[in-house]
Amino acid sequence: METRVIPVDREHLQENDFAEAAKLLREGELVAFPTETVYGLGGDALDPDASRKIYAAKGRPSDNPLIVHIADVNALTELAQEVPEKAWELAERFWPGPMTMILRKKAIVPDATTGGLDTVAIRMPSDPVAAMLIRESGVYIAAPSANASGRPSPTTADHVYEDLNGRIPMIIDGGSVVIGLESTIVDLTGETPMVLRPGYITIEQLREVLPDVAYDPAVIKRVKDETIVAKAPGMRYRHYAPKGELTIFEGDLDRVTARVQAEAEAKAAMGFSVAVLASEETKDRYHGLTVRSVGGRDEEASVAAHLFATLREFDRMGAEYIFGECFPEEGVGQAVMNRLMKAAGYRIVKV
Ligand code: AMP
Ligand code: MG
Repeated sequence: METRVIPVDREHLQENDFAEAAKLLREGELVAFPTETVYGLGGDALDPDASRKIYAAKGRPSDNPLIVHIADVNALTELAQEVPEKAWELAERFWPGPMTMILRKKAIVPDATTGGLDTVAIRMPSDPVAAMLIRESGVYIAAPSANASGRPSPTTADHVYEDLNGRIPMIIDGGSVVIGLESTIVDLTGETPMVLRPGYITIEQLREVLPDVAYDPAVIKRVKDETIVAKAPGMRYRHYAPKGELTIFEGDLDRVTARVQAEAEAKAAMGFSVAVLASEETKDRYHGLTVRSVGGRDEEASVAAHLFATLREFDRMGAEYIFGECFPEEGVGQAVMNRLMKAAGYRIVKV
């Protein structure tokens, strides 16, 4: 299959920019498109065959459910059995935006979309390209991140092309995404609202609306502990990972940089291809190594925006070993470290 890349000018969007993409979606085909979080691989959420195509294109395990994207809050009552008051309050505050809610699903949402669960994940994106595509197509769009399963999520159309060229008919290229990390997922099906995946919307922000929100234990774990099972099936899998072996170092920054330099030098001396994941403050401390900065240590948003693209750059370089710094867990830093720890397979060394 030939994959067409269709550029759109997000400053001057026109309805007919999306005519072909909307038609493909209505016909049960797949279209990758930008959202404010990462690029999504979209298909008609109410068409089980479209959902199956999404799993096949990504190579995604079929028990890992998809997020359904909507353009109007009233869609909640069409997709969810009951919409608790808490859901309306979160929607009011955070939609459109990078927050996903888990609710009990209605029968019209196929099992193929929810991985067999009786719940459904729903999000209303703020990106104008995503919003216009949903409106124009007239379908609810099931869209997981548009990467091959296990790889870092795509933050540009090039990343999508790298993973899915030949597997899907169309990619809408709206440039680089703004946030760079997936949405915050909040489960509203139990007594206590639970964060299943941290994202750009922090737990502190959620608590301004729902004071009792708590983290699912799997979100805050820092070790590879098989007894703590993530409630979001997708968070159980090896994920976000570069091809090389990533190890991250935690502790006093001087000690961390010295140790990263030593470990990286040792592997390089053995003939391996090595890269260092650094910050603006530390990048010049490393010598004789391939170093990339993802941003300032106190600029969590910058680190979030550059993390996945940098991991992909290491893959393109053929890095076999990657040594990296940990980042402060303030605000979005929580989500950054969640992805980084998973990408490292919880290889975290305290120094
Ligand atoms: P992605 O496709 O990369 O955006 O990932 C979607 C995430 O949402 C995965 O981690 C899924 O496991 C999670 N998810 C989707 N639907 C549900 C659901 N009904 N219950 C729990 N987690 C869900
Ligand atoms: Mg994903």
